[in-house]
Amino acid sequence: MSKLHLDGIGMTSQRTRDRLVTRLMEQGIKNIEVLDVMRTTPRHIFLDEALAHRAYEDDALPIGFQQTLSQPYIVARMTELLLAAGPRKRVLEVGTGSGYQTTVLAQLVDVVYSVERIKPLQQKARERLRLLKARNVHFKHADGGLGWPQKAPFDAILSAAAPEEVPTELIDQLAVGGRLILPVGDNRTQHLRLIEKTENAVNVTVVEPVFFVPLVSGVI
Ligand code: SAH
Repeated sequence: MSKLHLDGIGMTSQRTRDRLVTRLMEQGIKNIEVLDVMRTTPRHIFLDEALAHRAYEDDALPIGFQQTLSQPYIVARMTELLLAAGPRKRVLEVGTGSGYQTTVLAQLVDVVYSVERIKPLQQKARERLRLLKARNVHFKHADGGLGWPQKAPFDAILSAAAPEEVPTELIDQLAVGGRLILPVGDNRTQHLRLIEKTENAVNVTVVEPVFFVPLVSGVI
């Protein structure tokens, strides 16, 4: 777990962030640790300046390359699911994007391995995490649909991009007792799924309808 370094980040008013957390609680987020981290993590530094004033609205926002910064509710929901069966040590994130979800995770688990296929997005995210002095994050520019086999097994895997079918590589790279949280579907219908791996089974729970960008193979 890594504590953020917030000097000089220019946090917006505490009230704005408190309001965001109140909304998350109204939407059913209960994990106190997750709520605390969302209360203190600056979301505005993950956006271009022109959009920074909208950082604490509960919306997905553009980050370039037709990608989006995930909606705070969905970041909180996925993180809560990830932690629901006890603390996680090694976590794989597919789709670093802006690095916001990465930063939330880095404060709640031991180590985050984050894979992104779009190089310029990865570079910006890496700079932001360096600024925040989050030291427990490792980045890779690659197709995250293939996981990160050299670092497997993972206690949890979280994907911020939706495949049409769950990649078997991700299930293979889960530890026994591990959980995979990801959106699955096409550009019309998607559902968040929780996949739990036990000694001799893989259990799937459909959580709720969502809308994510697609998981795309290859890198740019
Ligand atoms: N949690 C991120 C979400 C970014 S959107 C945030 O809040 O900023 C999803 C990201 O997944 C995009 O950056 C997209 O480029 C990335 N992505 C899509 N397919 C991928 C793949 N196969 N491997 C790695 N990253 C992928």
